[in-house]
Amino acid sequence: MVSESTSKTVRLIEGAGISNQIKLEVAEDVARMRREHGIQPLLVVVQIGDDPASTVYVNSKVRTCEELGMGSRQIALPSTTTTHELLALISDLNSKDEVDGILVQLPLPGHIEERPILEAIDPAKDVDGFHPINVGRLALSQPSLVPCTPMGVVELLERSNVPIRGANACVVGRSNIVGRPMAQLLLQRDATVTICHSRTRDLASVTRQADILIAAIGRAGFIGMEHIKPGAAVIDVGVNRVSDPAVARQLFGEDIERRLGIIAKRGFTITGDVNAAEADKVAGLRTPVPGGVGLLTVAMLMKNTLSAAKSRRNLAW
Ligand code: NDP
Repeated sequence: MVSESTSKTVRLIEGAGISNQIKLEVAEDVARMRREHGIQPLLVVVQIGDDPASTVYVNSKVRTCEELGMGSRQIALPSTTTTHELLALISDLNSKDEVDGILVQLPLPGHIEERPILEAIDPAKDVDGFHPINVGRLALSQPSLVPCTPMGVVELLERSNVPIRGANACVVGRSNIVGRPMAQLLLQRDATVTICHSRTRDLASVTRQADILIAAIGRAGFIGMEHIKPGAAVIDVGVNRVSDPAVARQLFGEDIERRLGIIAKRGFTITGDVNAAEADKVAGLRTPVPGGVGLLTVAMLMKNTLSAAKSRRNLAW
């Protein structure tokens, strides 16, 4: 699960091993649920329109359900679907007892407002953890369905034995999907948490205090050596496309030839918010992009669907 990188100091935490472990645990529980209670958890994924990236994500979610023995249903609606029609579908799914999880793939087409849709989903089936009831429960440290990406980061930290209690943790980014729930989860685990954003003054002086630095910004290679405390655990949530070879040269250090090859072939390469070449000179631990946090997100969706299925039926195990 944890492999030593070529650098003298940094430890690379790959997401694949931890993600597979979580999926295995979920599959075991799904099998037990079917065996002991005759129930198969069911996830319904709703996609509006045919955005290619969304289709890739939706297919991967449905495929993973199948791999783990979980039921799944994919509902594809045209991009002309109205808010009213989508709300009617959600209401129907809310009322169906056999449906454990409802996920509406984001982003929605421009004419559909996101908030009313997310708020229409029954909080008990809200496997994305975006409903205000679940957000509020998380803030109150009550059991809730938690957004998948930040929960995946916690799994990465805990399963890699990174101490969270008492640590200085800094989250750069305050979105509802990543930054805010990330901060809540770390606080729940007794870290001393600082949240930074685009208005933070002298960002590097703040992030350099962090034993655990989480970057969820959306800017390729933004976090450099000057932002990182020596020995810190640096968790890179960012997923950014780099297509300009000149930008790539600034970001990829020894990895540049491979990356330029990928750009030449595909038109872009994926990288995180952390400048990996610089980070590896100071960080104690780092998650790569691709191959790090991103791999945990679908695994955590499966875990949330299982949790929803259990708690809707009052199964205590
Ligand atoms: P958002 O754009 O919603 O939020 C970005 C945050 O970064 C904002 O809070 C913003 O501050 C902050 N920010 C922007 N510029 C700066 C800066 N110069 N200094 C400090 N803070 C800054 O993005 P998301 O949270 O949705 O996503 C963040 C990244 O994580 C993206 O790359 C996204 O692709 C990736 N992601 C990856 C997932 C995965 O599964 N691996 C899942 C979800 C996201 P402010 O609030 O002031 O504007």
